[in-house]
Order: sequence, then C-alpha cells, then structure tokens
Amino acid sequence: MQHQTKTAVVRKMGKFTLTYEPYFLQLNHVFTVASGSRSTTPVVLTSLSYEGLSGYGEASMPFYLGESHESVTAFLNKVDLAPFADPFQTEKILRYIDSVDQANTAAKASLDIALHDLLGKLTGQPWYKLWGYDPADTPDTSFTIGIDTADIIRKKVAEATPYKLIKVKLGLDNDREIINTIREVTDTPICVDINQGWKNRDQALEMAHWLSEKGVVFIEQPMPKESIDDNAWLTERSPIPTIADEAVQRLPDVEKARGVYSGINIKLMKCTGLREAHRMIELARAFDLKVMLGCMTETSCAVSAAAQLAPAVDWADLDGALLIGNDRFRGMWIENGKIMLPADPGIGVQPI
Ligand code: MG
Repeated sequence: MQHQTKTAVVRKMGKFTLTYEPYFLQLNHVFTVASGSRSTTPVVLTSLSYEGLSGYGEASMPFYLGESHESVTAFLNKVDLAPFADPFQTEKILRYIDSVDQANTAAKASLDIALHDLLGKLTGQPWYKLWGYDPADTPDTSFTIGIDTADIIRKKVAEATPYKLIKVKLGLDNDREIINTIREVTDTPICVDINQGWKNRDQALEMAHWLSEKGVVFIEQPMPKESIDDNAWLTERSPIPTIADEAVQRLPDVEKARGVYSGINIKLMKCTGLREAHRMIELARAFDLKVMLGCMTETSCAVSAAAQLAPAVDWADLDGALLIGNDRFRGMWIENGKIMLPADPGIGVQPI
C-alpha cells in the first residue's frame, strides 16, 4: 500500500471550484472484522467553492467496498459542474452526479456532503435546523471495539468508559468468549455487528437469546445479505432487533428490509450522501423500521455531516473520527457518550 502524500487536484468549473485530495487515515488500533484486518483507510477530501464560500466533503473507502483513491479521483475527474449556475439547484446537481457513473457511492457522497456544507454556509444554518430537528434529540454514540485478544479487548473496553453503548464486531468462532471478556470489565450495554458472519439460522437464534441475556441491545447484519428467508426467520423470533447493514445501501433497498430486519443502518458512503440518507430515514419511518446511523473510518468531516441526521435516528455509531490519529477537521463531538452538534452552518466543521 502506498503512503506518500498525493497532491490535491483543483478544477475550476463555471462558478464552482472543486478540489480533491487523496489522504490516508492512520488507525489507532489495527482493526479486524469478519472480512479482514487493516491499519489505514484511504479517504479523499473534497471542497466545493462558490462565490467565496467553501463546503467540505469526504469519501471514505474501506477496502471491502471496492472504491480507492484511484477510482474516486477517476470519478471526480469526470464530473463537470460548469452547466449549473446555482448551487441551490440541488436536485438537478445531485441527480447529475449520480448519473455520471454507476456505483462509486463514496465518491458521490464526497460531492453531496461538500454541496450540503456549501448550501448551509450560504443560508447561514446547520442542516439539522434546515431539516427541522432538535439537536437535543441526538442519541448516544456507540464506540466500536474490533475483534482482538482478551487483553487488548479489556484495554479497549477501559478506553470506552465514557460511552453508553459498546459496539463489538463478532462473526468468527469466538463470539461468546469476546462477550464474556467484555462482561468481566463492564455492564455497559453492547450492540453487536456480525458482518454476515453467522451461517446457520438455528445457531443464530440461539446466539440471539444468549446475547440478549448478556445485555446486547441489537444485532447488526446477522447472516449473509443473500439469505433473505433466514434473516426474516431470525428477525421474527429474535428477542432483540436485527439491523440490516450490508443488505441496505440505497433508497430502493429500504423497502426490501421490510419484514426481513427490524431496522436499517444508513451510512453516507453507501447511500451517496445526505440527500438520500434523509430520504431513507423518512421511508424507513413510514415502514415502521428502526434506524441506525453508521459511518466508516472517516475524519470529523463526514462524521459531522452524518451527525446532522442524528436527532432523527434510534441509534448512532458515529465514532469513525475517534478511531484515527490524524483528523483534519473539528466538528461534532461526544459529551458523556452523547453526540453534540455545533451551531456552525452547513455540516458544522472547521479544517484544522
Ligand atoms: Mg456493519
């Protein structure tokens, strides 16, 4: 993997100037999930300027999503905003960006976030206000602990003391051992992310009951996303909610979660950004689905953008910026485990 600094691209397009810079986030801990381990995450930092104001955005690309510095840069190279005279033509602009190529959801999110930040700055308001949310309604964030040895898990749980919800990645063959290790150290509620790691529905149901007794509050993506019947079977019987993550990426997937999971996990990098995330929340509510808001490993830029939606969700896993050592922004923060939103306009971030 390459770690040298790459230079920013600056492109003037009509009244807009778009800047994008590949960057590597350094993780505080080597991070292990069911699909592999890593110690850095590539991101691309974007900014969109118009009439003297700049909005900030970000694409975060954990390797399992298939996007990279090269693919995001290639996508952004194809974008031309010159035909758009007014950034408030959001619908037209974001429909165009979505049409530039298929997939590339993180690259699209980097533009959506920058555009939302710019619009917020042009109106002088943060997005939680423009959407009509009360910032006091934000949930506590969970704090994620990767799969590791018992000693390291105990150390990580100790670091997680201010948090009211611990998220743990399960799905290998030592699920009970990990939960028991955490329970030696703390009674804090836990949520678990199986990352599709369970393959047998009877064993999954047995685990759901066992986890419920251990103070686990929900199970994220218990079985493979293709196993629709098994996930629906489990959801119907599980004593705790199931949340779709890998199975739900964009707006049309919300309807597919109905009757299969108790709720959905919305992430800006999966769904192309704030505009679609907001619509997914509305649609999920109409279908009586629970909503969780997640993130990738990201700087405070993308995490603060997601946090603007936090007052509207049941659970939030917005610890992405807490897990890195080289953040480039100041924005949302955590106080006694709760998500706090700055009053600054747009997505509420300042570059460091
Ligand atoms: Mg997940």
